[in-house]
Amino acid sequence: MDCRDRGDLFQRKVISSFTSHNLNSHQTSTCVVSCFDFRVQPETAKFQKAIGVELHDPLTIPGGIKSINDSETEELMKKWLGVSYHGHNVRKFVLIAHSNCLAYAEECKDLSDFLEFLFHQNELRKAADKILSWFPDAETKLYYAFLDKEECCTKFREVSLTDPVSIVVTETTAV
Ligand SMILES: [Zn+2]
Repeated sequence: MDCRDRGDLFQRKVISSFTSHNLNSHQTSTCVVSCFDFRVQPETAKFQKAIGVELHDPLTIPGGIKSINDSETEELMKKWLGVSYHGHNVRKFVLIAHSNCLAYAEECKDLSDFLEFLFHQNELRKAADKILSWFPDAETKLYYAFLDKEECCTKFREVSLTDPVSIVVTETTAV
């Protein structure tokens, strides 16, 4: 077998495995809603891997969950998330908000880091409640990404949907 043959074999194997797992099935388990901000996307991708989210539907738009909570855009978001739910059989929605988000510049402009976290925690819970009212058998996981002042490190906190205690549940630093 020469190099070209081996190359063909490798290509066929990869294409066949990709096809059988993804393209024909229309099935994945998770949709991730996050902000398109270039400062957090690379860390978000690493974080997703760290929590076991690999193949997924990414819904990456300015402000992420803001459009779920905004009355002007919520119907559109319901429709888009419905494509994941009905079309790809997604039953898990991962929602990621982040600090210093331009989409929330007005709402968060004079808030301390902690108050900004509480604000986003509330936003995450509101968005999760809506998703669960649209798709009652789905589950949600909520995370807040904190960008440090140098914007070179992002820490992710898991936010509980029901726990009244508003401090950190878990904290993970993406590496
Ligand atoms: Zn943002």
